[in-house]
Amino acid sequence: MSNEYRMNAIKRITEEPVSSFMPAATAYIGFYGEDSFNTETMKAYLPKDVSKKLFATIENGATLDPDIAKDVAHAMKKWAMDRGATHYTHWFQPLTGSTAEKHDSFLEPDGDKAIMAFSDKNLIMGEPDASSFPSGGLRSTFEARGYTAWDPTSPAFIKRHGNGATLCIPTAFCSYTSEALDMKTPLLRSLQALQKSTRRLMNIFEIPEEKLTVTLGAEQEYFLIDKHFYLQRPDLYQAGRTLFGAPPAKHQQMEDHYFGSIPTRILNFMNDVEKELWRLGIPAKTRHNEVAPAQFELAPMFENVNLACDHNMQIMEILRQVADRHGLVCLLHEKPFAGINGSGKHNNWSLSYGKTNLLNPGKDPHENAIFLTTLCALIFAVDSHPDLLRMAVSGAGNDHRLGANEAPPAIISMYLGDQLTDVIEQLENGVPKSSKQAGTMRIGVDLLPSLPRDATDRNRTSPFAFTGNKFEFRAPGSSQSCSEPNVILNTIVAEAFDKISDELEKIPYDKFHDGLQKLLQNIVKEHKKVIFNGNGYTEEWVLEAKKRGLPNIHTTMEALQALVKKENVMLFEKYGVLNHRELTSRYEVNMEEYHKRIHIEGEIARDMAKNIILPEAVGAYSKALKVNEMALNQGLPGVDSYAKTLGEGIKKLLGSIEIMEKALLSKHEEIIRAMDDMRVIVDSLEQIVPDGEWPLPKYREMLFVY
Ligand code: ADP
Ligand code: MG
Repeated sequence: MSNEYRMNAIKRITEEPVSSFMPAATAYIGFYGEDSFNTETMKAYLPKDVSKKLFATIENGATLDPDIAKDVAHAMKKWAMDRGATHYTHWFQPLTGSTAEKHDSFLEPDGDKAIMAFSDKNLIMGEPDASSFPSGGLRSTFEARGYTAWDPTSPAFIKRHGNGATLCIPTAFCSYTSEALDMKTPLLRSLQALQKSTRRLMNIFEIPEEKLTVTLGAEQEYFLIDKHFYLQRPDLYQAGRTLFGAPPAKHQQMEDHYFGSIPTRILNFMNDVEKELWRLGIPAKTRHNEVAPAQFELAPMFENVNLACDHNMQIMEILRQVADRHGLVCLLHEKPFAGINGSGKHNNWSLSYGKTNLLNPGKDPHENAIFLTTLCALIFAVDSHPDLLRMAVSGAGNDHRLGANEAPPAIISMYLGDQLTDVIEQLENGVPKSSKQAGTMRIGVDLLPSLPRDATDRNRTSPFAFTGNKFEFRAPGSSQSCSEPNVILNTIVAEAFDKISDELEKIPYDKFHDGLQKLLQNIVKEHKKVIFNGNGYTEEWVLEAKKRGLPNIHTTMEALQALVKKENVMLFEKYGVLNHRELTSRYEVNMEEYHKRIHIEGEIARDMAKNIILPEAVGAYSKALKVNEMALNQGLPGVDSYAKTLGEGIKKLLGSIEIMEKALLSKHEEIIRAMDDMRVIVDSLEQIVPDGEWPLPKYREMLFVY
C-alpha cells in the first residue's frame, strides 16, 4: 500500500513515550540569564571602573571608550570558557531574514601547546566575506568585504549544542563603505532618530531630558507537527508550507483549540523551550494554544526593541531546534495550511521616556496632554505612511495571510476603541459633551477619563490597535524579523514628532495650551480617516476604506514599491536611517527573494504532482478500470462513474502539469495562478483516490495526530 509510510508514521507517534518527569519550577528560574553576558555577569567579571564605562554606553548610548575593549574581551572570554565555550562568533542578521555566524575557536597554537585567545579586535570587529550574502548591488560596486561591528547594547550569549558551546556576539553588518547590509543597523539608526525627535518634543513640554526606550513585546505564533509527517511532505520541508491538502472535515470551526488545555507532549516541548530561553535571559512569559489546531503562541515580556528583536531571532531558532529534539517540527511560515488560520507576530510597541510610558493615559492634565500628543502623532504617522507599514510586512508567505479572512486586512487602519475615539472626536469638535464613560470631561487636553485596558482591547480584526498603553501592530508575519516594522514605526513617529514640534515651537508661551489643542484638532481632522473601530474582516470595510482613500495593497510586488518611492527615500535619508542606495538594495534583495520563492514553490508543486500524485492516481484508476471490467463481465454493477471521475481528474492533472511547465518559464503571476489551479485538481483527487493509496500525509493527520 502506498500509504504505508503515513500509517507507519501514525503508529510511531502512538508509540512515542511521553515523559512524566516534572522537575520543580524553582530549578528553572534559578538559571535565568546564566548564558547571557548581562549586567549581573559583567559586574562579576569586569573591574568596577570598566563595567561603569560599559554601562554608560549601554544605558545612555555614550560612545564606547576604546580603552576598555581589551578588558571586556578578556572578561567575555573568561566567562564564555567558564560556560564551556570553545568558539566565538559575530552573530548578525543579513538580509536573508535569518541569522548568520562564522565560528572561530579561541585556540591559538603557542609552540607545542595552545593558549585560548580572544582580543579586543576580535570582539569589536569581524570581517566575514560578504559576497555570499544578498546585498542588492551594494557589494558589486565596492568590495566583497563586509564588516561586523559589536553592538554592546545587546548582551553576548552562549549558544549550546549537543557537546559544545559557542560565544555569540551580536553585531551589525555593513559594507566596506559603511552601508548597511543587515537588519540591525537601520534599527539602531532609527532609534537614534526617534530619540532626538522625542527629546525635542518633550523639551517643549518642559520634561527634563531622559533616555528614550522603544519597547517591543513580540508575540510569536507557530505550528507544531510530528516530524514523521513532515518528512513525507516535500512541500513542507522545502517551502515551509503545504502546496496541496484537502480541507479536513474538522479544523477550527468548533473553536475548541484556542486557550484549550495544552497536550502533554506539547507542554514538554514548551517547557524545554522556556528552559533554554530563560537560560539566555529571554523573558518567555506566556504560552497557549492558538486558534488553529496544532497552532500555539509564545509571548515574552517586552524589552527594549533592539534586544527584543535579537531575542525574537533566538526564539525562532530555539523553537525549531527544541521541536526537532522532541520529534516535532516547528513551522514558522505565515500560512502552512490553506483554509485555516495563519501565523503572525504581533508587534506590541510603545515608548518610554525615562520611566514614563508616553502611550499611557495620564493621571493629570499635563500627562494627558503628552499622551494625546503622542497618540495624535501616531495617527498622523500611520495615516501618512500606510504604504511603508504595509511594505514592512510584505513577503511571499505573508501574502497568503494578509487580507485572508482571519488575518488583519492588507488595509492599514487604526483601532482606538470607542472611548478613546470619543475623546478624539471631542478634541476635534472642540465642544464639551459628556464622555461615554461615567462623568463629564472638559474638552481637549486638560482632562481625560481613565481608560481601563479592557475598554481598548476588544477588536482583533484591526492591523494596528491601541491596547491600553501600547500599539499592537498585528500584520507582521510569523517568520519575519521584527526589525523592519520597528524601523518604520520609529522613523515615521520621529517625523510626526518633528512636525508637531515645528508647530509648537512657534506658539507663544502663554498660548501654549490653546495652540496645542488647535494643532491636535487639525491633526485629527486631517487624519482620522485612518481610524476604524469596526470589523476589519468584512467586505463593507474594503469598500469603505476605498471611499476613504486608504490603500489596499494586496501583493508583495506592489508593497515593495514603497521602498523606492521618492518621498519615502527623502524621509529615510532625512532621518539617517537608510540612504537611497541602501533602500534600492533592499528593494532588489526583497524582489529577488520573492521571485525565487514563487519559482521554487512552482517547481515543487510540479514535481509532487508529476512524481508523487500522478503515479498513485493512475494506479487507483487502473484498479478501478479492472474492477469495472470484471464486474460488468459477471453482470454485476460496475464502477464506471467512479472510474470516469478519476480518469477526468488525472487528465486535468496532466493538463495542469503542462500549464505549470510553461508558467515556470513565464512571470510569477502565472506561476501563482498555475499553483492555485493545480491545487484545486490535486485536492479533489485526494478526496476520490482511496485513502489507502494516497501518498501524502493529510491535513487531518498533520493537524490532529501528535
Ligand atoms: P494579547 O495576546 O492579549 O495581545 P499577550 O500577553 O500575549 O497579550 O502579549 C502582550 C505583549 O505586549 C507582551 O509581550 C507584553 O510584554 C507586551 N507589552 C506590554 N506592555 C508593553 C509596552 N509598554 N510596550 C511594549 N510591549 C508591551
Ligand atoms: Mg497573545
